[in-house]
Amino acid sequence: MTSDWANRTKLVHSGIRRSQYGEMSEAIFLTQGFDYPTAEAAEARFIESGPDEFIYARYGNPTVRMFEERIAALEGAEDAFATASGMAAVNGALFSMLSAGDHVVSAKALFGSCLYITETLLPRFGVDVDFVDGTDLEAWRAAVKPGTKLVFLEAMSNPTLEVIDIAGVAEIAHSVGAMVVVDNVFVTPVFQRSLELGADVLVYSATKHIDGQGRCLGGVVLGSREFIRGPFETYLKHTGGALSPFNAWVMLKGLETLDLRCRAQADTASTIARALKDHPALERIIYPGLADHPQAALVGRQMETGGTMLAIDLKGGKEAAFRFLNGLEILAISNNLGDAKSIATHPATTTHQRLSAEARAELGIGDGLIRISVGLEDAGDLVNDILGALSSQ
Ligand SMILES: *Cc1c(COP(=O)(O)O)cnc(C)c1O
Repeated sequence: MTSDWANRTKLVHSGIRRSQYGEMSEAIFLTQGFDYPTAEAAEARFIESGPDEFIYARYGNPTVRMFEERIAALEGAEDAFATASGMAAVNGALFSMLSAGDHVVSAKALFGSCLYITETLLPRFGVDVDFVDGTDLEAWRAAVKPGTKLVFLEAMSNPTLEVIDIAGVAEIAHSVGAMVVVDNVFVTPVFQRSLELGADVLVYSATKHIDGQGRCLGGVVLGSREFIRGPFETYLKHTGGALSPFNAWVMLKGLETLDLRCRAQADTASTIARALKDHPALERIIYPGLADHPQAALVGRQMETGGTMLAIDLKGGKEAAFRFLNGLEILAISNNLGDAKSIATHPATTTHQRLSAEARAELGIGDGLIRISVGLEDAGDLVNDILGALSSQ
């Protein structure tokens, strides 16, 4: 039974659709349309399509379907729908469910574009959004009300790596009948089972760990068949956020190595965090796998490892942070994450530049903060590169 397979087996074998040639590597079906044998068959397919019957690539495509079924198998989700980017996934998950007059509660520590949707776009269409500190269960309890339509959060916040108690938030949201929508990017599909913890809908930017080699944009939304094939598919197929079959193929091949890559990256992240602990140039180091992470107990309950990301706060603010970045030889100065190549980001001047200084301070994003996405290089080389750049302080 394929559902009994372990994750690594699912990541290699689930969802395969072989053509008449029996190819080993999945085919890229680079086609927009599909030929119907008869007029009657075309009519029938528009009434109801079987699992291997497609209509148009904006609605679905065999390569895209392989990717959707493989990640759904990994997450134990009933179904999945792939999107052109992570933001198409977030946008689709929220807009497909919401109408004017609805109430939403959202964690306030969000990826910039997620914040734009919740803070600016949703209110423009008459949706009432309240923001809370996602780590504070009492704040969630106080913000939800009977009729709240959904709650939205990132399982681990960017860039300060706070972890949200999914089971706790889900219990509060479900008590008022609200759906729980979780952006699971930072915890990866490998280290946290957010659906099992109580999330109703999971959203991924596949651009990050799922591609894992910095090539393509993509996204995916997972949930019940009723939601995915109902409101979500209807919204996505008519609004155009479909994933290209070529990018779906890249993501599908990315899934084959996802578990191995994420575990290797998390091991290295843990090695780096331990090597940097108590370094005199640092105000603090944030790694969810360290025993002194403020939510170490929750991390232990909810995540399998501390993940592939860490953050360091340098003494000496922006100048020190820039000296550090410019002193790095292996780590790239960039803003993607989950890549095979390690990346250092200065959120205050790049990803979170748009926020006011007060908003950044409230989110713990100081001028000395550097976010590090740990890649697949040798751990010792990365530690030496980081220690070398710190010694130029
Ligand atoms: C990158 C990211 C997104 C957006 O994904 P894209 O593929 O860039 O559109 C959404 N949420 C989080 C947490 C992200 O890191």
